[in-house]
Amino acid sequence: MRYEKKKQQMIQGLRQMGIHDERLLLTMSKTPRHLFVPAGLEHQSYDEKALPIGFGQTISHPYTVAVMTQALEIKKGHRVLEIGTGSGYQTAVLCELGAQVFSVEKVAALSQWADEKLRKFQYHYILRVGDGSLGWHNYAPYDSIIITAAAPVTPENLLSQLKPSGRLIIPIGSAEEQVLTLYIKEASDIKIIKIKRLKFVPLKGVYGW
Ligand code: SAH
Repeated sequence: MRYEKKKQQMIQGLRQMGIHDERLLLTMSKTPRHLFVPAGLEHQSYDEKALPIGFGQTISHPYTVAVMTQALEIKKGHRVLEIGTGSGYQTAVLCELGAQVFSVEKVAALSQWADEKLRKFQYHYILRVGDGSLGWHNYAPYDSIIITAAAPVTPENLLSQLKPSGRLIIPIGSAEEQVLTLYIKEASDIKIIKIKRLKFVPLKGVYGW
C-alpha cells in the first residue's frame, strides 16, 4: 500500500515518544494523513513535523494529534467538539475512533477544504465556520472538547459545554510557550492535569488572543 513504510515509521516514532494506546496507534496507522496535506507535501506527511496548510496555519505534528487524542480516551459514539478544524486530519482520527465530531474553524476556506477530504469517508461529522472559542451550544453537552490552538486562559464557556466526567484538552500559556492541559469534569470540581510543553498556533476570537 502507498506510504505503508512511512506510516509504520511514524507509528514506531509515536511509540518511542510515549504513546501507548494501541487502539489509537492502529487508528493512526489507518488514517491517510497524506490526503490531508496540501498537494506537493504528501511525501512529508508521515514525518514528525507540522506542515503549512495556508492562511498562516499548520497541520499539527503527528505526536501532537496522538498525545491530545490519547488524553481524551475516546469511545465509540462519543460526541466530540473540536475547535480548529484546520486540515481536517485531527477530525478524521477522531471519526476513525468512532466519535461523532462537531468541528468549528474560523477560516472558511480551510473548513471547506477539510470538508472536501472528509466527505470521501463514512464519517459522522458536522463542520461550522465561526469563532470556536465560544464553543457550539446547539450540540452541547460533549463527552470531549479538543482545542487545537493555544489560548491565554481556559474558556469557561467551553468547560460548561462538557458532560459530567467529560474531558477537555487545550494548550494554555503565553504566545511563546504553552502547556497542554487536560481538564476532567468530576462530580463537585474539575481535575486539572498538565501534560507537557508544546508549541501551537494562537486561538483567536472572544476567548483567544
Ligand atoms: N487540528 C488541525 C490544527 C490546525 S491549527 C490540524 O491538525 O490540521 C489550528 C486551527 O485553529 C487553524 O486552522 C486556525 O484557523 C483555527 N482557529 C484559531 N482560532 C480559532 C477560533 N477562535 N475558532 C475556530 N478556529 C480557530
